[in-house]
Amino acid sequence: MKKKKINEIIEVIRTKNRFLVTSHQDSDGDSLGSQLALGELLSSWEKRFKIVNQGEIASKYKFLDKQGLIETSEAALDFRPEVVFVLECPDLSRVGFVQNMIPEDALLINIDHHQENSHFGDIDWVDLKASAVGEMIYDLLISVGHHLSPDAAEQIYAAILTDTGRFRFRGTSARSLHICAKLLRLGVDPEKITDRIYFSYGEANLRLLGDLIRRMEVFFGGRVCVLSLSNGDLERFNASFADTEGFVDYTQYLEGVEVGILFKEIAPGVTKASMRSNDAFNLIPFAKNFGGGGHKGAAGCTIYKPLKEAKRLILGHLKQCFDHGT
Ligand code: AMP
Ligand code: MN
Repeated sequence: MKKKKINEIIEVIRTKNRFLVTSHQDSDGDSLGSQLALGELLSSWEKRFKIVNQGEIASKYKFLDKQGLIETSEAALDFRPEVVFVLECPDLSRVGFVQNMIPEDALLINIDHHQENSHFGDIDWVDLKASAVGEMIYDLLISVGHHLSPDAAEQIYAAILTDTGRFRFRGTSARSLHICAKLLRLGVDPEKITDRIYFSYGEANLRLLGDLIRRMEVFFGGRVCVLSLSNGDLERFNASFADTEGFVDYTQYLEGVEVGILFKEIAPGVTKASMRSNDAFNLIPFAKNFGGGGHKGAAGCTIYKPLKEAKRLILGHLKQCFDHGT
């Protein structure tokens, strides 16, 4: 199955010339690393391509894009893509404005590892066993005999490192570690990458994080930990929204916590909930209830209500789940 999908995709790359590469909005380590590493293959085969994503890129990931290939504004492309690669995206609508840049007759290639992927592509390669899409892109590159540059090795390593939560999440497999071992042999420096991604807060954002943790709320006898970021907080601390990516992880530091949620007021009356859970609580159906999605242990949704109301809604639903023993 994997081999067949890879062969189909390679045939498309071989025979077409103009590619648009994209991923879900507010890209993370896996989406950025995967897109950039795929870009290296397209570039080495002398294909025309653009990588376009909605949402500012968190500062901690910028080192991955040394050539400044990722564009984040909606602008007309200077070519008409024949093929659109959509990586790490369970549903096409999650690419945001990039959807407007996809010609009707373009061939869509969907490469993902989300369980609820809606198979929207002309070619769908969905591997639920992959800990990160970065693993899949690694397979693709290796299967055509591509020699990964040190940059591409770093990009794939960063994709796997971040999507496994530093080799912690359930999806972390022998295969993930095996690929990372090979990347180390290509010169990846694990300390350098981990420091750049996880130990690199700007002062304003670290102080903001401190404030969020100080105001942390704990519900249901310690089963749920909540952090809340309102619109004014960013201004108060002169902090960057993109750089709050990862703050939700701090809800998991509480011993015994089952569900951690970071509520972010992303615009007046619009709240994003980022959720993390341990094995006991499956977040996929929970997030779906609110029009969102993700993985069992990491999911999100956007609620068109002010922060307080969104919080009340989600906590109310969580209470029901707990009461019914789910
Ligand atoms: P985040 O909390 O933004 O780090 O996202 C965690 C996971 O949930 C990722 O796999 C996202 O793709 C997914 N996710 C986040 N927000 C949404 C949303 N509004 N709709 C669908 N999936 C989401
Ligand atoms: Mn991923």
